[in-house]
Amino acid sequence: MERKYLGVIGNPIEHSLSPHMHNAALERQKPEYTYLPFRVTQEGLEKALEGFKALGVVGFNVTIPHKVAIMQYLDVITEEARLIGAVNTVHLENGQWVGYNTDGIGFLTMLEEAGGVQAAGCRVLILGTGGAARAVAVQLGLAGAGEIIIANRHPEKAEVFAKEMQAKISGTTYSALSFSPAELAAAIKKVEIIVNATPVGMSSFPEENLPLKAEWFSAGQIAVDLVYSPQWTNFLQLAGNAGCRTLTGVGMLLYQGVAAYQIWLGMEPPIEVMREALVNSLEGPVIREYRPEDEAE
Ligand code: NAP
Repeated sequence: MERKYLGVIGNPIEHSLSPHMHNAALERQKPEYTYLPFRVTQEGLEKALEGFKALGVVGFNVTIPHKVAIMQYLDVITEEARLIGAVNTVHLENGQWVGYNTDGIGFLTMLEEAGGVQAAGCRVLILGTGGAARAVAVQLGLAGAGEIIIANRHPEKAEVFAKEMQAKISGTTYSALSFSPAELAAAIKKVEIIVNATPVGMSSFPEENLPLKAEWFSAGQIAVDLVYSPQWTNFLQLAGNAGCRTLTGVGMLLYQGVAAYQIWLGMEPPIEVMREALVNSLEGPVIREYRPEDEAE
């Protein structure tokens, strides 16, 4: 059996959870494949791609700090990845490296599967303007979201981002906000979904909180934290206390991996096997989706 390789490149890469998730699925379904983590420096990026062809690496994920820099070395880039401005999945197709971005798809699938929410027509507040926020804002726009409000600690970045999105995606209304309490309170009252796309809440940010108040939220809204380590964050706690449904970042992480697997192998992976491997590789207690009504049962 000819061995084939998949992988993930980044620097550092030791912390990546993707090998756990993908190898669990590959062992079950495609044992001739192995998924490996590769630490690649900025200077080594182009050479790594040449080496991959020689070594039988047929697809890989891309993580920090290479998601933007990799684009210059690819032969084809999908429209989604171009709009987002970053690539997180690469596949060798007829000798050509094709770059995709599955982060936004991962977010949408998570919203549909766990949240039961269709993006078309929905109103969303996104906190943050980094790579994760871009993926979510683009994919929601492509899926026909009605209104997307982007709030950022440095509001000028939100202005630039919202203008850029509006110029590229015309069917959705994009606007920008600062982190001022009055603006945030008014925006939260207007939307159905609130997304934390900043790193606040990660274990590396122990002292920080988003400038939000529970009384701005209401039952029936959905709060999504893209942070997945830890799975349960102060943001989710605050929104959960106000009666919102809460979704952790694990769903997006899982489904961006599912979408990458589909691209590489052209088949549906065993999603529950991937989910279990992912959850087992995360530290801390397992958090399933939380619905306030569950507490009453
Ligand atoms: P990033 O590019 O570093 O995000 C930067 C954004 O966060 C900027 O808008 C920045 O605001 C804001 N920010 C940073 N520190 C802040 C603070 N102390 N207070 C308020 N805002 C702050 O990161 P990213 O790649 O977009 O990722 C964001 C989060 O999403 C991370 O926790 C990452 O792990 C998570 N993520 C999850 C998935 C998933 O699959 N679940 C996928 C991708 C990312 P300024 O512009 O004002 O500095």
